[in-house]
Amino acid sequence: MIRFDNVTKIYDQKTRPALDSISLEIDRGEFVFLVGASGSGKSTFLRLVLKEDHATGGIVYVAGQNVANISSWRVPKLRRGIGVVFQDFRLLPNKTVFANVAFAMQVIGKSRGIIRETVPEVLKTVGLEGKENRRPHELSGGEQQRVAIARAVVNKPGILLADEPTGNLDPTTSLGIMKVLDKINRNGTTVVMATHDDDIVNEMRKRVIELRNGVVLRDEAKALYTSMM
Ligand code: ADP
Ligand code: ADP
Repeated sequence: MIRFDNVTKIYDQKTRPALDSISLEIDRGEFVFLVGASGSGKSTFLRLVLKEDHATGGIVYVAGQNVANISSWRVPKLRRGIGVVFQDFRLLPNKTVFANVAFAMQVIGKSRGIIRETVPEVLKTVGLEGKENRRPHELSGGEQQRVAIARAVVNKPGILLADEPTGNLDPTTSLGIMKVLDKINRNGTTVVMATHDDDIVNEMRKRVIELRNGVVLRDEAKALYTSMM
């Protein structure tokens, strides 16, 4: 689903590469934690998958396509296949829960009928039934993140990228969010989550890819946050 073939990203010739000859493959349906200290290259990795930036060397494949060969007018189509969730939720503050999620369908031209049918389904998946008419400021942080997840997956992307999605949440709320992400993964979406949350990683026991200074330090199945070696 995602393949990095010898990928290097250099922002500034005077400093070390943000990513340095990374090669790895994430299969369809996997759940992967991307860990590593601040500055290790996690956000750069996610940005290259979204083609928000280009690799300096090597090839990034998403769903079998070399993203360098995707012309600018087809980039929106690439991104439609990738849901994104952030630490700070990024909801539309004046819109209801329903409308925040509906908006993602409206921008790609879905009909009112399909939207009315699909939004309640996805709100149920994330555990927000009954909250359709609330606005973001009326919700807890965990509920706001559930809205953001619903919006990210409502168009059924093959990939969900989550950048520190539990970074603003307490441990109990974070675990609830992880259960939602796990459910979405079990429904078939490939999930890549960048995180510093050691408790969550240790609880979930998924594949862990650890970056340090732009290189893969560790890539282990069913792993802990900190290497046992
Ligand atoms: P992480 O997400 O793990 O904190 P990043 O991918 O943001 O790491 O950063 C990796 C390295 O690239 C860091 O040294 C950072 O300073 C550098 N970097 C990130 N974005 C830019 C940018 N837009 N311009 C210059 N350097 C950048
Ligand atoms: P606007 O586009 O005027 O900002 P809203 O953002 O409030 O309107 O709503 C966007 C769409 O979602 C509209 O079609 C609205 O009718 C619909 N909508 C909002 N809340 C609900 C709800 N609870 N049930 C069904 N449809 C809703």
